[in-house]
Amino acid sequence: MTNAKALILLIEDDAPTRRFLKSSLGGHGWRIAEAETGKLGLAAAKGQNPDLIVLDLGLPDLDGVAVVRCLRQAGDIPILILSARSQEADKINALDAGADDYLTKPFSTGELEARIRALLRRVAKIAVQHHVFQVGDLTVDLTRRKVSKAGAEIHLTPIEYRLLGLLIRHTGLVVTHRQLLREVWGAEHAQDTHYLRIYMGQLRHKLETDPARPRYLLTEVGVGYRLLASEI
Ligand code: CA
Repeated sequence: MTNAKALILLIEDDAPTRRFLKSSLGGHGWRIAEAETGKLGLAAAKGQNPDLIVLDLGLPDLDGVAVVRCLRQAGDIPILILSARSQEADKINALDAGADDYLTKPFSTGELEARIRALLRRVAKIAVQHHVFQVGDLTVDLTRRKVSKAGAEIHLTPIEYRLLGLLIRHTGLVVTHRQLLREVWGAEHAQDTHYLRIYMGQLRHKLETDPARPRYLLTEVGVGYRLLASEI
């Protein structure tokens, strides 16, 4: 699959937004399919086999979070959700239900395209089994479990490594507090966000040049963390 030919399914009830997204994304060589309700969206996801879904959380017929759950039961297609500022809680629930990333309206098309590219790249990367992650002066050899910064090896504790590994698997995308806590510490610790503050602080201290102003390990306030795919 090349990104240029990827089929993107837009599930969005607002016709002007749909038209706008269709023309801006279509102009980048992606093929676009559209659905104006959650039910039509689920049918299109099944029938047209898209490479990625852009899902508006505010739909007239179905709860957006329920749509994410249905899509996840059917497979692991990348899902990017669009939410309004008033839907903060829904947004986090949708991410916890398995959506891969989000944008809050209003957003720029440049931002949307960058997120779509990151998601499609991640799928392509999983397909070729890339085992070395590299950003700036940071290198993580996932096969040998070795981390280095500017050529110098850095020792991580097992928990720090698992946390970093999880963020690497979602490079460029947000990972929620709940996802991180569940996968690194277990379901019984899903609420213990102070663990994350402590361990993310340690990781930044080891991996960032200026831990107070991180370049790679970014905070998504109230949502989770994001590991950048390239330097900003
Ligand atoms: Ca809507």
